[in-house]
Amino acid sequence: MTTMTKGATPASPASQARRGSGSHFLPVFARADVAFERGEGAWLFAEDGRKFLDFAGGIAVNVLGHSHPYLVEALTQQAQKLWHVSNLYNISEGARLADRLCELTFADKVFFTNSGAEALECAIKMARKYHSANGQPERYRIVTFEGAFHGRTLATIAAGGQKKYLDGFGPKVEGFDQVPFGDFDAMKAAVGPETGAVLLEPVQGEGGTRVFSNDFLRKLREFCDEKGLLLILDEVQSGVGRTGKLFAHEWAGITPDIMAIAKGIGGGFPMGACLSTDKASKGMTAGVHGTTFGGNPLAMAVGNAVLDVVATPEFLEGVRATARDITQRLAELKDRYPDLIEEIRGSGLLIGIKTKIANTDLVAAAREQNFLSVPAGDNVVRLLPPLNIGENEIREAYQRLDAALASLSTKAGTPA
Ligand SMILES: *Cc1c(COP(=O)(O)O)cnc(C)c1O
Repeated sequence: MTTMTKGATPASPASQARRGSGSHFLPVFARADVAFERGEGAWLFAEDGRKFLDFAGGIAVNVLGHSHPYLVEALTQQAQKLWHVSNLYNISEGARLADRLCELTFADKVFFTNSGAEALECAIKMARKYHSANGQPERYRIVTFEGAFHGRTLATIAAGGQKKYLDGFGPKVEGFDQVPFGDFDAMKAAVGPETGAVLLEPVQGEGGTRVFSNDFLRKLREFCDEKGLLLILDEVQSGVGRTGKLFAHEWAGITPDIMAIAKGIGGGFPMGACLSTDKASKGMTAGVHGTTFGGNPLAMAVGNAVLDVVATPEFLEGVRATARDITQRLAELKDRYPDLIEEIRGSGLLIGIKTKIANTDLVAAAREQNFLSVPAGDNVVRLLPPLNIGENEIREAYQRLDAALASLSTKAGTPA
């Protein structure tokens, strides 16, 4: 007989079968009326029997689709050994993942988190601490760009600067100066004696798959060096192979001083990381920052497994080829529905369809065709397929989007 404490017995089958009503969720999400019970590759299976093609990818998270056997194996193997010990002790899988991330990037140091916003919090604190440790604590200000999204904590909503996320939540965290997207002169003008860093997403995700040009990033890198500013990149969405390079800044041939990542690195397991050079992490000494869950053995095992698959030249070349294929098909759709589609844009498999109708109408019409996508800012519909998506799924995606666009075209009274 096992010794179970009171309340530790598993729920009875009857109570397990009872579905939640959803009415006790904090109503901050406008959820679509569908619940999934299983996923396989690019496909999601709903409780009601419907089958969806998933180009939402849990918002750029499921880089290898659903239930990738290699990731499932890594997670279940680890689950049988050890779940959590805290950062009071060494975590070998984490040390290994940090070594590998540094090997693959500009970085010398890694701090693991549970989310993107926490990775950004670490990046922001690190930039401030750097200047403070250098005897310039007044350089705490950070320049950011309109349309940015850096998370939902108090500091990251201030960094993102979007009114709809700031309203009603009290005084905005001090120290962020926002300039128009891609405006180099405005950026320069916003830099003063109190500025310590510039923060941006090389490709804005939530902002509508808007890409900073390679030229802009190179000029920015030079400018930061000249002024002693730290360059912080938010690659929470653009990183981990999404654009066809392991990290999007590689397209410009530059490196940041600090980089936040999350989403894809866990392939669906919640995790993130703040990567930095030795120089930028000056000041981040024992006790000044921390986390209970960050870098936990389950997350680390999955992170290593994701890198095993994604961080190879062949895999990334495959992403680029797939992106060319999908982009070409989308261009075809744009030609066929000029009244509905304004532009196809983005980078790699971080793709945006800028619509002439409400973007949410296309997302809804596509969902009618059992095709999942994500709305983004600037009236864009985002497509975030698994990086390892197959040709059949790409063809299916084209057909379903075509059907969705046709249904809207008819409604608008302008048959294609
Ligand atoms: C999603 C996202 C974040 C926030 O990540 P969370 O895990 O939701 O905290 C930050 N920056 C970018 C670019 C993102 O796409």
